[in-house]
Amino acid sequence: MSDDRGTLPGITVTVLPERVGSPVDHCVTSFDHVRLPRTALIQGEHGQLRPDGSLTSSVDSARKRFLHAIGRVTVGKLCMSASTLGGCRAALAIAVRYAHTRTISGPVAGRRVPLAAHRSHHARLLERVATAYAMTFLHREVTDHWITHTPTDRPAAERLVALAKGWITWQAREIVTESRERCGARALFPVNGLAEYPANADGAITAEGDNLAIWCKAAADMIFGHTLAPEPLPATGRESLTDPAFLRRGITAAERHWHAGARSDLRSGEADDALGRWNNASASALNLAEAYIIGQAAEAFATAITRTTAAGTRAALTDLYVLFLLDQVDSRSGLLLAEGALTRDHVRALPRTRHLLITRLAPHLPALTDAFSVPQEHLSSLPMLTAP
Ligand SMILES: Cc1cc2nc3c(=O)[nH]c(=O)nc-3n(C[C@H](O)[C@H](O)[C@H](O)COP(=O)(O)OP(=O)(O)OC[C@H]3O[C@@H](n4cnc5c(N)ncnc54)[C@H](O)[C@@H]3O)c2cc1C
Repeated sequence: MSDDRGTLPGITVTVLPERVGSPVDHCVTSFDHVRLPRTALIQGEHGQLRPDGSLTSSVDSARKRFLHAIGRVTVGKLCMSASTLGGCRAALAIAVRYAHTRTISGPVAGRRVPLAAHRSHHARLLERVATAYAMTFLHREVTDHWITHTPTDRPAAERLVALAKGWITWQAREIVTESRERCGARALFPVNGLAEYPANADGAITAEGDNLAIWCKAAADMIFGHTLAPEPLPATGRESLTDPAFLRRGITAAERHWHAGARSDLRSGEADDALGRWNNASASALNLAEAYIIGQAAEAFATAITRTTAAGTRAALTDLYVLFLLDQVDSRSGLLLAEGALTRDHVRALPRTRHLLITRLAPHLPALTDAFSVPQEHLSSLPMLTAP
């Protein structure tokens, strides 16, 4: 495209304006009547240009060829997810450290208390820490799955990565925003390490395939390409809201509900109106996709706990796992009540159970974020954590 005198005739490179988030020198490269030899096309089995100009391909449709050609962005999706995950773990580590160093006036005159003493403060951080653990375990499982997939299960492996990327990067944006807020005005100064994370998460949400667009594709594939979850046992009222298996069944019940709904919504449209049929089904299908990937995150969390040998760590992680599940069940309690996966007493008991769990977990908050191993050099370089 260029030689030592600059770009070649017909080629223009235009630098794009500044964007928020980590600076990258994005540009647009345009070609105007530039003839390239046939061999300049990057070719593979999915598309080869013959000397006579005709195209041969091992892939039979233009859509499949396009999807094959962009298939390599799957690794990029894993990288985008990993980068926002690292960002949100660092943000939580900073916010938790700040919650224990920043003191405010307390109920007793003259005695100050750390922010972390307040339930309104540490509960929000703990809930995000629980989600960050679930995201981390999910990312590890999905990466392992991607590394070990076979050619026949490639479409399913790509779908799993797309779903994980959407969920992890959306959650990460929410977590870094909460972390920034919990540190007040000081966190708005980039020097304190939090202000730029949301913009970076925004980049990851869009790059390597916009989250909503890739979820739409995954969700559409799942309507008939994914096995309908078994009908859950109806709740009797005797189940405990701290039983992870019971809460996990709630997520499966939601998945099944939206899956069955998406199937019937899709059938309700005119046979020759593909977009109309998809428009009928997309809301249910996207809810199916979300419930499914949250279920996968729950599975990954449960597996990680089985590998934990120290009893104290295992107990704290189990509480954290239950908190994660409870949050998911709570946000779907209306649906789960209607589906018979929760009783009215369960729904009434949700806030109290959450309160008990938070009380048990609050003393572990610093240990839970210390385990993220954010380098001490980074934390000590942030004025907010070192200067009074
Ligand atoms: C930080 C960053 C780095 C990037 N790096 C590169 C790079 O190195 N190389 C490169 O080539 N590109 C790069 N990109 C571009 C990136 O791949 C695209 O921005 C991304 O795929 C989204 O496409 P778009 O911007 O055209 O948005 P659009 O596709 O126009 O999306 C706009 C909106 O339309 C919706 N939408 C789009 N399609 C559908 C659909 N089928 N169904 C429903 N809704 C839909 C989306 O949800 C979104 O709300 C980068 C982008 C970012 C943010």
